Amino acid sequence: MKGNRKIWWIDRRLPPEQYDAIAREHLRARVKVLENGCWEWQGFVHKEPNPYGEMSYRGKQWRTHRLSFHLFKGPIPAGLDICHTCDYKRCCNPEHLFTGTHRDNMLDMRDKRKMYQDRITECPKGHPYDEQNTLYVRTKIGGIARNCKTCQRASQRIRHRLQHGWPPKLAASLPPVPPGFKLVKVFVTGDETVSPLSE
Ligand SMILES: [Zn+2]
Ligand SMILES: [Zn+2]
Repeated sequence: MKGNRKIWWIDRRLPPEQYDAIAREHLRARVKVLENGCWEWQGFVHKEPNPYGEMSYRGKQWRTHRLSFHLFKGPIPAGLDICHTCDYKRCCNPEHLFTGTHRDNMLDMRDKRKMYQDRITECPKGHPYDEQNTLYVRTKIGGIARNCKTCQRASQRIRHRLQHGWPPKLAASLPPVPPGFKLVKVFVTGDETVSPLSE
């Protein structure tokens, strides 16, 4: 063994608050803070598929993420899981941890939103949310949102026209050119014209 091997031991005769304060320090000293804020446990880590860290606390082995939650956020309610927002099992940053109920709540919210979504069959402009016209996109919180393809194409068309110097009102009001046709010139006012050859 090279250098000084640190002994991670705390006297259990210490008052609980003092014991916990030292335990917090020990935990902090044994993590590497990653760029995304994760506290990567540097001590013993279990094998895949459950690579959680392990640390002893009051004579028992604890999974480090559970211990971190216990030490920094308070006791874990009986029967609850501690989950990671970062999905990194070796992480024990209390800010990346939440209890199982919170997760249940999030799933529950997602289900409710889905039920609400199912009742809405058209986009705000009245285009149907059918298979052809719907684009499904993943939201930040892991849900699924629907985008109306017709509306999306319309806003692309308008943006494109504006980039080509169309007057905004005209860009929004002129309908899409039917397939097979080509727009050569649009007369605006007087002699002013726009040439949307690229449409
Ligand atoms: Zn993390
Ligand atoms: Zn629409």
